[in-house]
Amino acid sequence: MTKQVYRAYNFNAGPSALPLSVLQKAQEELVDFKGSGMSVMELSHRSALYEDVHNQAIALLKELYGMPEEYEVLFLQGGASLQFAMVPLNFLAEGQSAGYVMTGSWSEKAYEEANKLGQVYQAASTKEESYRRIPAPSELQIQPGSAYLHVTSNNTIFGTQWSDFPETGDVPLVADMSSDILSKPVDVKKFAMIYAGAQKNLGPSGVTVVIVRPDFLERATQNVPTMLRYDIHVKNNSLYNTPPTFSIYMLGLVLQWAKEQGGITAIARRNQEKAGLIYDAIDQSGGFYKGHAEKDSRSLMNITFRLQSEELEKKFLAEAKSAGFVGLNGHRSVGGCRASAYNAVPVEACQALRDFMLEFQKNNG
Ligand SMILES: *Cc1c(COP(=O)(O)O)cnc(C)c1O
Repeated sequence: MTKQVYRAYNFNAGPSALPLSVLQKAQEELVDFKGSGMSVMELSHRSALYEDVHNQAIALLKELYGMPEEYEVLFLQGGASLQFAMVPLNFLAEGQSAGYVMTGSWSEKAYEEANKLGQVYQAASTKEESYRRIPAPSELQIQPGSAYLHVTSNNTIFGTQWSDFPETGDVPLVADMSSDILSKPVDVKKFAMIYAGAQKNLGPSGVTVVIVRPDFLERATQNVPTMLRYDIHVKNNSLYNTPPTFSIYMLGLVLQWAKEQGGITAIARRNQEKAGLIYDAIDQSGGFYKGHAEKDSRSLMNITFRLQSEELEKKFLAEAKSAGFVGLNGHRSVGGCRASAYNAVPVEACQALRDFMLEFQKNNG
């Protein structure tokens, strides 16, 4: 079982690292899942064996977050990107308007998609400041009667993250948590809806998790194609059509792993430690490395930084690559460097990166 395997220092932004024990468990069960003589991929999605996998994953996610019982957990397809359209299709009724807080590229995409489907407004934006920070609660201009307010909890490309979510009163709060779901405790009660593509913190790509409050669902319009209606998926326990069974199985294994780690609080502590190692290397570099995000908006998931010149960045990235680090290039739209230290990235990988950064500075500073 503890055979030595080669594992890269994987800082990919998504799809990203999965826990080794999860991969090994999947490997062990791959060709004969629980004595069925079949892989999970080969099971009927209507079989009792698969339904257990499906329902256990839902129950585990609820348990890990300590979610109020009434919340529904859905497993959909189309990625977080389809949610950009599904949210307004279902919840942005005519005569209403929805607010978007602009904190990066993904918020822009969500906003633009909704803008095609209904009335939207920007409740705040830090675009003028290159999305270096999350707006303060006092900056938000939430119009009374809004269909919802949409936030991006963690900005994967710019490396910023909300620490406290805004109070929105009667306006339902909807969050894209694709890149920080399960990374820290969150009071789910504050949200009418949360969605997340699985491929950053929850599992492989192919499944999108939606957490939704039934009273919000009641507001949904029915004049939407069947597959894009949340209420249809709720009524059918995400089994209206064939769900991505293998991705959901993997997600269940990741949730089980999260529980074994001590749950979300323990994971959050480790994430603090991991990101802290790299931010310390930046802060103690005397300007050799420059973080993109303002300190109080820093993401624990995506650590974005630059060096003094693009030439030096190229050298840094090339040497990092030879040293076994993967995924440190900044997003193609912003350049620079980015280390994504999602839940499954081990502390040792972050220590190794910190050491590499210190060494690189010594040789090039
Ligand atoms: C990755 C990401 C997306 C896009 O997710 P897909 O599943 O590829 O559609 C959306 N929002 C955020 C915050 C992301 O990090």
